[in-house]
Amino acid sequence: MKTKLLIILGILLIVGWTVFWLYDYNKDGATKKGGDLYQTIVKRGYMIVGVKTDVKPFGFINEKGENAGFDIDIARNIAKDILHDESKVKFVPTTDSDRFYQLNLGKVDMVIATMTVTPTRQHFADFSNAYYITGQALLVRNGSNIRSLGDLSNKNVGVIFGSTAEETIKFLLPTAHVMGYKTYKEAYNALKAGHILGITSDEAILRNFSLNDSGVKILPKRYSRDSYAIAFRRGEESNYILEIVNNAISDMDNKGIFNQLKRKWGLN
Ligand code: GLU
Repeated sequence: MKTKLLIILGILLIVGWTVFWLYDYNKDGATKKGGDLYQTIVKRGYMIVGVKTDVKPFGFINEKGENAGFDIDIARNIAKDILHDESKVKFVPTTDSDRFYQLNLGKVDMVIATMTVTPTRQHFADFSNAYYITGQALLVRNGSNIRSLGDLSNKNVGVIFGSTAEETIKFLLPTAHVMGYKTYKEAYNALKAGHILGITSDEAILRNFSLNDSGVKILPKRYSRDSYAIAFRRGEESNYILEIVNNAISDMDNKGIFNQLKRKWGLN
């Protein structure tokens, strides 16, 4: 009797958990994996995009509390293309370390978040054509005796967890003491406090710090070539939307929209 009751209770628990999981999974209209993503977005009436919220000038929260930046404007242009209305985007905050997780869990339709395309990442996601090119640089304090990456051997250098720079520095300079930070703010504070002697990341992101603080500077050398692209879940569901988004990217390029946006956000 007791065993029967336990079995029934167990079954009820499993059913309940499954129903809750399905509800939670689809509650904000996020994509069911396997369907056609383009159709899902059109039916839903808005796109769900993973973006940065603390990376100026690509994705950040402005003084009005709104998402703003180069990546945000690209998302709006794509919404204009797909849904004929640039306001039809729901932005979901992502970080370097949870971008793929959010994408693969179906929490977002796509990620537009300073995402560099790499051969490893191409195993896990489908990427659009590139929309911005930058390169890995090193930010140091003014007056620092660090003149190149090599000078950081046996020294502390900061990276953002999950960034391409984290992998590159471990490859280029295995003797560096690589310190991981969740946010640029934390890494920057550590640099200012002298806990680390440099931060290595994309030049386009680090430039914002050197523009706003004469106490730091970017060294001239670039250690990689990084192409930013939009990431989609890997698989058939993304085939059609990839075509649409790639067309939208070439269109924006031909119409000079990328150049306009670069000027607007002070990018090279
Ligand atoms: N582009 C680099 C990456 O995709 C860094 C991005 C960032 O820190 O915002 O890993």
